[in-house]
Amino acid sequence: MHNIIVFGPPGSGKGTQSQNIVDKYALSHFSSGDMLRSEIAKGSSCGKKVERLMAGGNLVPDDIVLKMALKYAVNRKAGNGVVFDGFPRTLLQAELLDKHLARKKLDIALVLAINITEEEIYERIMGRSSHSGRPDDTPEIIEHRIQVYLDITYPVIEYYKQQNKLAWVSGMAPVDTVFGRICSVIETCFPALAGNG
Ligand code: AMP
Repeated sequence: MHNIIVFGPPGSGKGTQSQNIVDKYALSHFSSGDMLRSEIAKGSSCGKKVERLMAGGNLVPDDIVLKMALKYAVNRKAGNGVVFDGFPRTLLQAELLDKHLARKKLDIALVLAINITEEEIYERIMGRSSHSGRPDDTPEIIEHRIQVYLDITYPVIEYYKQQNKLAWVSGMAPVDTVFGRICSVIETCFPALAGNG
């Protein structure tokens, strides 16, 4: 089992790179943002609870995301592993994910943190805003999402650094170049995966 977490500020390409990892190494993909957006699209009671928070660039309550994520992690127990994209984003989420995996004799093997500059965040998100259909892709909300990332999610990166699981990857390059960097980190960590793709 190769459970991997991908961190990155908004616009860092974490969704695209998570999908690339999933495709190349035959892992499964848990994107908390996609799952929440699909709840909103379905008009479910969960979707109704989170819609306004997400549109404002705020995190949704831990209990809602944890319920979705832990259920996903258990269901994929027998697979090759999960790429967690956008989860965990708070220390409580990280601690409960660790506890939950430990109960199943599983763990997080690697944490990738994609780094890009603030200018690049604005440029990329403004570039995608016309076609993303996301209400949180506006300059004011991006500014708030960056602040939430720095204030709340950044300490989670530190939590995994203390566990010696963290690898930084520069996201300041075309998608394929960044993916090449990610693959070399993954294959250094898990030499058995080096034959894939
Ligand atoms: P993303 O697609 O990862 O950029 O997430 C979009 C939005 O979904 C975030 O700005 C939050 O409102 C919400 N969200 C996604 N993942 C989480 C999480 N792990 N904890 C809390 N809120 C989340």
